[in-house]
Amino acid sequence: TGAVRRPLVLANWKMNMAPDQVKPYLATVLPEVEKDEAADVAIAAQDLYLPEMLSLTASSRLMLSAENAHWTDDGAYTGETSPKALAALGVDYVLIGHFERRKLFNETDERVNLKTKAALKNGLKPIVDLDEDLSAYASADPKTVVLKQLALALDGISETAMKNVVIAYEPTWAIGSGEAASAEQAEKSAALIRASLANLYSPALAEQTRILYGGSVTTKNAADFLSQEDIDGILVGKAALDPKQFLELIDIAQ
Ligand code: PGA
Repeated sequence: TGAVRRPLVLANWKMNMAPDQVKPYLATVLPEVEKDEAADVAIAAQDLYLPEMLSLTASSRLMLSAENAHWTDDGAYTGETSPKALAALGVDYVLIGHFERRKLFNETDERVNLKTKAALKNGLKPIVDLDEDLSAYASADPKTVVLKQLALALDGISETAMKNVVIAYEPTWAIGSGEAASAEQAEKSAALIRASLANLYSPALAEQTRILYGGSVTTKNAADFLSQEDIDGILVGKAALDPKQFLELIDIAQ
């Protein structure tokens, strides 16, 4: 993690966690989270749980994230979640373009861009996910896919607005597979993303922007990722479903 950037540890519950697990999870995590404030901490949960979580975390520094939001504030979009409503409830972050959304729900770069803009407009902080698939990874120029996704996701977004954007870099083959990227490889991609941000905006903006690594992060490999210069946090699925492991990961980050 670079000197000017605060680490962010983000749990992504995905569509996991039963309703009756939410309270005990937070009861385990919240008192510990207050003991050290060197890293930001957030949980992305399904919309259904967010109101209860907002009230349980009202006096905590733990922040909440939605896992997706629509690209308009309201309207005839049955089954969708409004970014305006999320912001009004007090949600801080929203994941945009997670690999599972792109792959299973046909989320295009254009939609990712629109959703990022809608989140920003409403005061939510988007965590924009870039995924690197195996073919890109194996090809001669593996990073072009990720850099293209980056440019398309941020198209038309101002440098001022960018101060509220977090980037997450996730090799698709590492998500939920138990096979994380090596810290060196992840650092290389994060550095390329940062260089690209310097080109798209400015070196100062690139220096301030947080870039997370996600994909089979565990309590064993988290320190390796977090010690890299250009990796400013971790996006954790499976390992963070256990509150004790989530706490361990937060400890590692501070
Ligand atoms: P994982 O999930 O930690 O289970 O690989 C990562 C993610 O949701 O991006």
